[in-house]
Amino acid sequence: MPAIGLGVFQVPPGERTQATVESALRRGYRLIDTAAYYSNEADVAIGLERSEVPRSEVFLTSKVWLDDQGYDSTLRAFDRTVKLLKVDVIDLYLIHWPVDELHLESWRALVQLQQEGRCRAIGVSNYTEQHLDKLARTSSVIPAVNQVEFHPFVYRPTLVERCREANIQMQAYSPLVRGKRFNHPKILALAEKYQRTSAQILLRWNLEHRIPVIPKTTNRERMTENLDIFGFRLAPEEVASLDALSCGFHVCWNPYED
Ligand code: NDP
Repeated sequence: MPAIGLGVFQVPPGERTQATVESALRRGYRLIDTAAYYSNEADVAIGLERSEVPRSEVFLTSKVWLDDQGYDSTLRAFDRTVKLLKVDVIDLYLIHWPVDELHLESWRALVQLQQEGRCRAIGVSNYTEQHLDKLARTSSVIPAVNQVEFHPFVYRPTLVERCREANIQMQAYSPLVRGKRFNHPKILALAEKYQRTSAQILLRWNLEHRIPVIPKTTNRERMTENLDIFGFRLAPEEVASLDALSCGFHVCWNPYED
């Protein structure tokens, strides 16, 4: 799985998604993160086609939405997704959110889809340590990925540790805090020190924790800016100073409150 991909949540369906995906792939992105809920899977497929980047070089992620959880409905949702994405195989298919007991049934469906070779990897999203424990009690198949909101303002070392122990790769969504903390003095100071932008500091913080990122942007310059995070490193004490900003500030769902 690439260390950085493009998220397309809230990118409007139609030309906007098509052009965004095409531009991102032409600029070097090799992972696109979509979901049934985003209503733009068909446009991701068109963007991929327009980019002329071979399908085999692109890592496609999609997710089964809350309303489709359960064994049969997950299988049906997957069929719709592959049809819209115009692919036979999805690289990573995730349970978007753990719905009561139903997510355990969805997981059974994902395991089957993987055994049939229709997903290269299967995983979960928004799972807390408790959700992971529950899953582990009912299935011997471990999720390859847990995609969660992850940035300095929701740093969760216990979840990082839990995933690492179980060999589950965490992946950070909303890694830019949706732009809501670009002006934090600690982030601005590091941006000044390294002559980088606040966005690059936030993305680099994730990479220092060995957590891949999927920032969203429809802006071409920002696509390039967000990719340019491999030419510098944060010192361990700088990473720790950003870790200390954690305060439970979620820009998306808080699965610990569900
Ligand atoms: P992000 O933290 O990626 O922030 C996106 C916002 O930041 C947009 O408003 C974008 O605006 C702006 N932005 C992006 N790059 C820059 C930059 N370099 N400088 C200034 N502003 C910038 O938030 P998201 O919530 O969108 O998360 C990213 C992806 O994660 C989603 O698209 C989705 O794929 C996934 N996700 C998954 C969830 C899940 O439950 N599994 C939940 C939420 C997100 P602009 O487009 O104008 O550049």
